[in-house]
Amino acid sequence: MEQSAKIYRDLDRILVTKEEIAKKVKELGQQITRDYEGKQPVLVCILKGAAIFFSDLIREIDLPLTADFMAISSYGSATKTSGVVRVLKDLDHDILGKDVIIVEDIVDTGVTLSYLRSMLLHRGAASIKVAALLDKTARRQVTDLLVDYVCFDIPDAFVVGYGLDYAQVYRNLPDIGVLSPGIYEK
Ligand code: 5GP
Repeated sequence: MEQSAKIYRDLDRILVTKEEIAKKVKELGQQITRDYEGKQPVLVCILKGAAIFFSDLIREIDLPLTADFMAISSYGSATKTSGVVRVLKDLDHDILGKDVIIVEDIVDTGVTLSYLRSMLLHRGAASIKVAALLDKTARRQVTDLLVDYVCFDIPDAFVVGYGLDYAQVYRNLPDIGVLSPGIYEK
């Protein structure tokens, strides 16, 4: 899809292009391949926002990894976090003794990831690391949260594309862009 496509008209600006994303995702896949040499990590996709990032990332990792999926409640139609995290779909497989990598779309306040990390640790994972496509460090509320792998640090703006939505729309944009405030202030 080209940037002249109709779906791009609701964007204020493009923040990260598909070419920049592809380059970073490849580098991250190579780094995880090195860091987990000799291991068989479980990569956990946090649905739905991380789905596209996840499918690209796992194909850049040269390890006998396994994939599992989890869905949690997020913003819904609003653009502010509620602080409440609810599991809508749990993992299909036990992670006891496993090396887990949580794959998340974006870390904002950090509430979601901090909850997820401690929940999976309680289930007896051998190790837990977090790979996030985007990080809004300026908005962090959970100060002791470690995000092990980050593709892009972004400013405090509401972004969509490459899996990220607004009211379930825009996930299919190949680039990541800032949504025009006029769209959600309507
Ligand atoms: P946190 O718990 O870190 O505040 O929020 C993380 C979740 O909020 C993300 O997984 C994502 O679902 C949502 N989120 C935070 N910022 C944005 C944003 O700029 N765009 C979109 N589409 N979702 C966001």
